[in-house]
Amino acid sequence: MGSDPFVLGVDVGGTKVAVGAVYGAEAGELVEHPTDTSGREPLLDGIEAGVREVSSKAGDPAAVGVGVPSQIEFATGRVLSSVNIPLAGVPLRDVLGSRLGVPIYVDNDANCAALAEAELLEVRNLVMLTLGTGVGGGVVIDGRIFRGTHGLGAELGHFSVIADGPPCPGNCPNRGCVEALCSGTALERDATALAKGRPDSPLGRLYAEGGRVSGPEAVAAAQAGDVDALRLFKRLGTWLGVAIAGYVNVFEPEHFLIGGGVSRAADLFLERARAEAASRALPALWERVNVSLARGAADAGVIGAGLLAAHESGRDTAQVKPETAS
Ligand SMILES: [Zn+2]
Repeated sequence: MGSDPFVLGVDVGGTKVAVGAVYGAEAGELVEHPTDTSGREPLLDGIEAGVREVSSKAGDPAAVGVGVPSQIEFATGRVLSSVNIPLAGVPLRDVLGSRLGVPIYVDNDANCAALAEAELLEVRNLVMLTLGTGVGGGVVIDGRIFRGTHGLGAELGHFSVIADGPPCPGNCPNRGCVEALCSGTALERDATALAKGRPDSPLGRLYAEGGRVSGPEAVAAAQAGDVDALRLFKRLGTWLGVAIAGYVNVFEPEHFLIGGGVSRAADLFLERARAEAASRALPALWERVNVSLARGAADAGVIGAGLLAAHESGRDTAQVKPETAS
């Protein structure tokens, strides 16, 4: 996309803020600083300082994209809710726009990650599911993020797989949604519940020691061959496969990607998920989709945020100045 303007991408995470100059699917002049979560102003100061640090080396950007682990009203760039960083209620697009004097575009980090993966794979239609503490997702249609009417859409993690399944651990009234079944939180809940009833098993001993079984402990137990832990991952894979079949039937993407921290244990559940999805998805769609792990390059968050800024500022020049957007 050689005609795209020069942009910066900002990836605001719970532990670090990364900023870089984004050129296509690559990031340069990267800087990283710990996220100051002590308050709203210190966090905003940190983001501003990171952008100024990169600008001083790479030049003044035409626009800046910002990915945050939060629900965003995309049209206004306002953060509606945010769990790990103190930005809930902040009109982030306006606040950073007046601090930096350039157009700002703000989106959910899962959307930015999906955009980066689409660029890396050079595909225009992609669905990505991010299995972490919660479950996020991004849908790229014809090269652009699909967000619904207000930018709150494509919450793939809150699609229900079991009508009367466990309550969702997220800020969600649903039961049996993908987040309630396939997230790190769900894995820990199920591993702990199983361990309680089996005090003489490996999981039971972990429970006796720590009062719970963490996700990484469940992964380690399964990798060591513990049958209880393996059964948990097989079940997680089955539920994930049911969900993948549904997403593939709805979107017919070229690629369906799995990312996030839980995906690092994909050898324990991805084949099961693929087999389950293959038995459920409409055959004509299934045979055309590629299901794989996200590349999740270290700077994918920065690249995705930069692509967001490039796409949005290039698409509609009336939106270049935030104050002129209606
Ligand atoms: Zn949910």
